[in-house]
Amino acid sequence: PAKTMDELVSLCKRRGFIFQGSEIYGGMQGAYDYGPLGIELKNNLKAAWWRSMVYERDDVEGLDAAIIQNKNVYKYSGHEDTFTDPMVDCHECKSRMRADHMKDIKVCDNCGSTNVTEPRDFNLMFKTNVGPMVNEESYTYLRPETAQGIFTNFKNVVDSTSRTLPFGIAQIGKSFRNEITPRNFIFRVREFEQMELEFFCKPGEDEKWHDFWVKTRKQWWLDQGLTEENIEFEYVTGDDLAHYSKSTVDILYKFPHGFEELEGVANRTDYDLGSHTKAQEEFGLSAKVKKNEHSTAKLAIRDLEANKWEVPFCIEPSAGLDRGLLAVMTEAYTEEELPNGSTRTVLKFKPHLAPIKVAIMPLKKNKPEIVALAKELKNKLQKLGLGRILYENTGNVGKGYRRHDEVGTPICVTVDFDSIEKEGAPVTVRDRDTMEQIVVPAADLPAYVINYFIN
Ligand code: ATP
Repeated sequence: PAKTMDELVSLCKRRGFIFQGSEIYGGMQGAYDYGPLGIELKNNLKAAWWRSMVYERDDVEGLDAAIIQNKNVYKYSGHEDTFTDPMVDCHECKSRMRADHMKDIKVCDNCGSTNVTEPRDFNLMFKTNVGPMVNEESYTYLRPETAQGIFTNFKNVVDSTSRTLPFGIAQIGKSFRNEITPRNFIFRVREFEQMELEFFCKPGEDEKWHDFWVKTRKQWWLDQGLTEENIEFEYVTGDDLAHYSKSTVDILYKFPHGFEELEGVANRTDYDLGSHTKAQEEFGLSAKVKKNEHSTAKLAIRDLEANKWEVPFCIEPSAGLDRGLLAVMTEAYTEEELPNGSTRTVLKFKPHLAPIKVAIMPLKKNKPEIVALAKELKNKLQKLGLGRILYENTGNVGKGYRRHDEVGTPICVTVDFDSIEKEGAPVTVRDRDTMEQIVVPAADLPAYVINYFIN
């Protein structure tokens, strides 16, 4: 794995995974842009999450709610009142910082002075104006989590799918938080993506489902290539619990800057549906909620056995896509010493995550038959739907191997003179991890590749 953030940042920029946002204007703190390979890796990680959370289960539905919502969503969700971090100001150097890591003695992160203010609450939501009029009422917020769109659509999903408990709703999308101190590359940013599942169950079955999701999510991260020794659980207690949570288990990963949260799995009880429902008094809610004077929908489900309406409990595994990508890159990063004394950098991604699945390289740039066969193979493999297959005609196969090691391409295929002269059109297939090369007849290449990526 990568030892320092710097080596990752440098590889990401050099090879086109991640760039500083607004770089040509001096940058924008806490915002990053994903380049040609970053977007592929991101899409592959999202697809893996969706596959395991939606397609491989029969009790989860998908959703894509709007980012901009009615401001009452955040009034009743509790975010307007309580979605804050403690912040202190330094009297000496005038910087501001997050204070939740500061215990009794408060020291400025920037200059080391102890001449700092008492912590005060800073709300992390971005406020924005909606519509052509600017007045007291014309504001809303950018969503700080995707979850709220799931709760506000609870009735729509239940009515349109006839779901009964337990079932879940999954969503992937952007969230925004005006972090006081964004840092550590894409670990803490102001604009990021979350992959969230809200899993609704009967009150009383919540703890069982909470345990289930903690285990299931850890296994999923292992399936993405993270290793056991780099994952830990943290049981969140007391003041660190979010306003909606009865209990939370954080899944931590050993990033280059230390063990930090990758995903939180929270037991949100009946807090959210209870907050957003009309007729709150009918349900005997267990969570303490603000009296709702605006909601027009009953966010409850009929318990057919007991013949009564009930507000379900909710378990939420909430993962950060950007943090996930950083974890996957950290883990995949490998510096290897080769027998000839040189070193190579390899990103040992799991095949399903690799931004480029196969690179096809003609040995000679200007030999028409070689080029034609290489292009034909590219088109054939592309049609398999595995992801990006790259035809790359630089004429330097050795350099190509090095570059594809560095971006984690699992398979390189070379088309050479043998391929056009010998019977069966043999092509050379080179494996990223073992660097072994084998010869495969061109006609067998699709089957070879499918076998490699599907099994
Ligand atoms: P932290 O304590 O690190 O601020 P959090 O506990 O506030 O995180 P949650 O509200 O539980 O985070 O959000 C769920 C997930 O969303 C986190 O586990 C993380 O992966 C991701 N996430 C939250 N804030 C950010 C951010 N500023 N930048 C990138 N990812 C984030």
